[in-house]
Amino acid sequence: MRLLEERILKDGIVKEGGVLKVDSFLNHQMDIELFNEMGKEFKRLFSDAPINKILTIEASGIGIACVVAQYFHVPVVFAKKAQSINIDGDVYQTKIQSFTHKRVYDVIVSRKYLSPEDHVLIIDDFLANGCALEGLVDLVHSSGATVEGIGIAVEKGFQHGGDLIRSKGLRLESLAIIDRFENGTVVFKEQ
Ligand code: 5GP
Repeated sequence: MRLLEERILKDGIVKEGGVLKVDSFLNHQMDIELFNEMGKEFKRLFSDAPINKILTIEASGIGIACVVAQYFHVPVVFAKKAQSINIDGDVYQTKIQSFTHKRVYDVIVSRKYLSPEDHVLIIDDFLANGCALEGLVDLVHSSGATVEGIGIAVEKGFQHGGDLIRSKGLRLESLAIIDRFENGTVVFKEQ
């Protein structure tokens, strides 16, 4: 998506360790007009899928997911990072290794909000090694619901989460795919 790529080139900051900071427009301060354009694009890309729910993960996926949901007219559920393991059995639970925080989280969704009738679009801001997405897919599968697709704002193509997710036969659409960082700037993969 040209608009997002241009914004990354203008305002994204390449940091040590293969990290791109986009917190002036994507995941700290948020540009809602840009999110609206992203929402329209995801709606176009997944217009044929019978999506009735959007799933994301706290915290930085929530803003994008809420704007995207307005184009699909469906509710958003976000997976919560739990402080302790829930033993009540009223939640679906998985573990996610955080790329940015280098730790493992227990992540939960209430059984009330995912069920076998659901057709889910998973939305997140970044795709790096794919751990966050694997966890979200695992939660959907635990509930018996169907993953209709995955929509990502920024995929780092030089990490291998995208390959991993696509190799599972899941439908993944990323609005901007970074091929590499070169002299502190971002080079996108041709789409
Ligand atoms: P993964 O689980 O695919 O390795 O990483 C995905 C998660 O890590 C995303 O939800 C995002 O919050 C965070 N993340 C991964 N790479 C980056 C990055 O380069 N910049 C930022 N801002 N977040 C990232």
